Amino acid sequence: PVFDPSKLVVVRRLGEGSGGAVELVRDPGTGRLLAKKVIARTANPAMHRQLLRELEFLDACSSPYIVDHYGSFLADHDSQVGILMEYCEGGSLDSLLRRMKETGMRCSEHVLGRIASSVLRGLDYLHERRIIHRDIKPSNILVTKSGQCKLCDFGVSGELIDSVAGTFTGTSYYMAPERIQGKPYSIRADVWSLGLTLHEIAHLRFPFPPEGESEYVAPIELLSYIVTALVPVMIDDESIGRVWSEGIKSFMGLCLIRSGTERPSPRELLSHPFILTSEAKKVNMAKWVAALLDA
Ligand code: ADP
Ligand code: MG
Repeated sequence: PVFDPSKLVVVRRLGEGSGGAVELVRDPGTGRLLAKKVIARTANPAMHRQLLRELEFLDACSSPYIVDHYGSFLADHDSQVGILMEYCEGGSLDSLLRRMKETGMRCSEHVLGRIASSVLRGLDYLHERRIIHRDIKPSNILVTKSGQCKLCDFGVSGELIDSVAGTFTGTSYYMAPERIQGKPYSIRADVWSLGLTLHEIAHLRFPFPPEGESEYVAPIELLSYIVTALVPVMIDDESIGRVWSEGIKSFMGLCLIRSGTERPSPRELLSHPFILTSEAKKVNMAKWVAALLDA
């Protein structure tokens, strides 16, 4: 579908990132709801036309594991770049995670398995097109009301990444150690970020600094901490009857291999027993999302 950006009606704000805001908008012609992201402050507005050409790549992406792209445009005398995309009613894993932390609602291993397999399929799809996501984190994994998990905000454009990364808080705590250290990196860096994301959802706590090991680490020190601290492992909590399977422990151990060259690729992990078992199982993801949104 083609939408006229000037005719879209704002319904409400969905969120705000470092580079701009995301709004829920309605196309009056079709009544369709879309998400509109506006990147207002890139480092180099002169590059916006180039950026728009690069974003055309998104039109060629079509996968159930990637958020659909409905076009990009320049606004406000070319000073802003707008991106129209599929609206995901469940919001991001970041907002769902916040609900989980607030309510103490834990998430089953089967739900974690579904999230993992969707993200791996999305990453594998991108990798086939020579794209590294570069920013896997809970807020860039969106969830539909039927509980499908989809990737957004991937590094299709070098300019976009650099301008956003260079100007704003471009460093993410989900970044793989090799990236924090400025070493060359590959699609395997995204696997580390997936591992941290799953670990946080499983324990309702970001795994760094490790619990009890350090009382407080200043944000600026956290990155160097991630490079040197022991990698997080899955922690059983028998007092609440929570014992992780050997399958998920082994899977997480592979995602969180510190060395970026020894860590498996998304394709390799797709045949891990944890993923195969999880994909063979019926998991009611819609119910999980609904329970969290109602909580
Ligand atoms: P960040 O990913 O750093 O949070 P973004 O600007 O990419 O910043 O997104 C801001 C927030 O908007 C996200 O955390 C998410 O909750 C929400 N959001 C983004 N895109 C969509 C979408 N397509 N559907 C629903 N919510 C979205
Ligand atoms: Mg984002």
